Amino acid sequence: MFQQNGPRAFRFPEGGRSTPKHLRQTLETEDLSIRFVNTVAWRLREPHEERLGSPTVLMDWLECNGLARSEDLGLIRKVWSANPRKAHRVYETAIQLREAMYDLFTAHIARRHPSPSAVSLFGQFLWGSSSRLRLEWEDGRLEWRMTPGASEPLELLRPIALSAAELMTGTRAHKIRQCQDDRGCGWLFVDQSRLQNRRWCSMGDCGNRAKARSHRERIRAGIRRGEN
Ligand SMILES: [Zn+2]
Repeated sequence: MFQQNGPRAFRFPEGGRSTPKHLRQTLETEDLSIRFVNTVAWRLREPHEERLGSPTVLMDWLECNGLARSEDLGLIRKVWSANPRKAHRVYETAIQLREAMYDLFTAHIARRHPSPSAVSLFGQFLWGSSSRLRLEWEDGRLEWRMTPGASEPLELLRPIALSAAELMTGTRAHKIRQCQDDRGCGWLFVDQSRLQNRRWCSMGDCGNRAKARSHRERIRAGIRRGEN
């Protein structure tokens, strides 16, 4: 189901099941943990936009991001349809993890202390009890996989937490940023630009808008520079 020849950082299902546009927008080239945190759009304004609206959408997201085989997810979906309360519990936990990670990332960016509850919740995911998760060599690379027959969906969230931990403690830690869009976008990204001066989540969206606005302001102020 996944495209096998694309860039390894991110694989997109081609054909078969179509992927909703709102998921596509979060599936770009950022790290796994950043993509997960960015499943809320417009974080810095009210109302936010929740893009993981249900347990089913969460499963779709995990599949699109290559965290499980569709057989494993099929097993989970089966368990969930028989026990919706279980689905809801996992979903709530996933959202709590995401929000704890957002708190950690933004604390990291602002150099402030994260909330103790975020630190402890995050830690539980990293070092949870005997994991059924393992790495398997597949299609020329290592992939996160569950032990066959294990249908513990919370395990699927652990690679996301590991990605966040690696990012915040690794060599790119100083490159984590939050979009400077003044409408309240709030998406996070890793600034890989050579000059370390990237300000927006994407040039195609928030960046273009800011550029257009400052262009209009320049014109309004009567400073015509003849560029752009
Ligand atoms: Zn943005």
